[in-house]
Amino acid sequence: MDSLNQIAEQVARCSLCPLSKTRTKAVPGEGPEDAKVMIVGEAPGYSEDLQGKPFVGLAGKFLNELLESICVRREEVFITNVVKCRPPNNRPPRVGEIKACMPYLERQIKLIKPNVICPLGNSALNSLVGRKSIGEEHGKVIENEGILYLPLYHPAAALYDNSLRKVLYEDFKALKNLISTC
Ligand code: URA
Ligand code: SF4
Repeated sequence: MDSLNQIAEQVARCSLCPLSKTRTKAVPGEGPEDAKVMIVGEAPGYSEDLQGKPFVGLAGKFLNELLESICVRREEVFITNVVKCRPPNNRPPRVGEIKACMPYLERQIKLIKPNVICPLGNSALNSLVGRKSIGEEHGKVIENEGILYLPLYHPAAALYDNSLRKVLYEDFKALKNLISTC
């Protein structure tokens, strides 16, 4: 039987793509196996690479605030990324790296069977749903192969473009309605 721990151990020592050579720590993701919500970012950044945990930097702080705004504790959610190792200088992950790493995310989704998966930003949207534009898809529920997706802007994007903060708070209300919290 597959397990989240087994996946995390395999990720920690994975060398299936070149990102294994430049990472400090791999970041498998964290959260409970019975999570109703999965949040999927692009790739670990500087702080995540050092700590081996997802979304612990500035974008993560904003993500925590967004979750709090709909009465969800971060600990109830499974948080991970499309690729589990940091790309050098935070460049976007390459197609080959995503392809090598996706089976880990697919196994995590199979085990957790969340009610909804939120891809954050274009990389995650593309890899999970095969759609291109987060600008068009954000805040709308998509059903794909029996799984519900609610694409959201990446919280890091809102650190650069302040107008996206409001959009993210609004879109998180759609998540609240799906999982009926507050
Ligand atoms: N950005 C991401 O996409 N993932 C993280 O874990 C942190 C920042
Ligand atoms: Fe393995 Fe994924 Fe890390 Fe590449 S990014 S080394 S496939 S865990």
